[in-house]
Amino acid sequence: MSGDPGIDPAVPPSGPGCVECLATPDGWWFHLRRCARCGHVGCCDSSPSQHASRHADSSGHPIVRSYEPGEDWFYDYTTDEAFLGMMVKVLAPYAWSFADDPEVLSWLGQLAAKGKGEKADLDALRSSLKLIEKYVRERGLPR
Ligand SMILES: [Zn+2]
Ligand SMILES: [Zn+2]
Repeated sequence: MSGDPGIDPAVPPSGPGCVECLATPDGWWFHLRRCARCGHVGCCDSSPSQHASRHADSSGHPIVRSYEPGEDWFYDYTTDEAFLGMMVKVLAPYAWSFADDPEVLSWLGQLAAKGKGEKADLDALRSSLKLIEKYVRERGLPR
């Protein structure tokens, strides 16, 4: 138990593909999302049937994790925002390029310490990311 009603890290995925699409003869999907609470695997919002977000609506399980190989980000349908862990991971390889900017560096440190965000954290993240994007645009990414 994580103590967070939206996430149960121990729950296994429901199967290799979208539950509802697999039950339909012509069901297909672009990408898969796994419900972080019950393990339901559903198709993404770019897929024709959008079963992952429908599952979130009908079950009250708002948080999904990507079920694509190599992806481990979380997403919250109720706040329409991605979780900090994903952002930190994305930004980590570039952290050294911010080393001469104490403010950006301190944001990255704070974000890394959170792991998973609450609404207020996500607001802070959003403004941090905007500034970091601007920073990267102006100075370029490390090679
Ligand atoms: Zn589906
Ligand atoms: Zn669920």
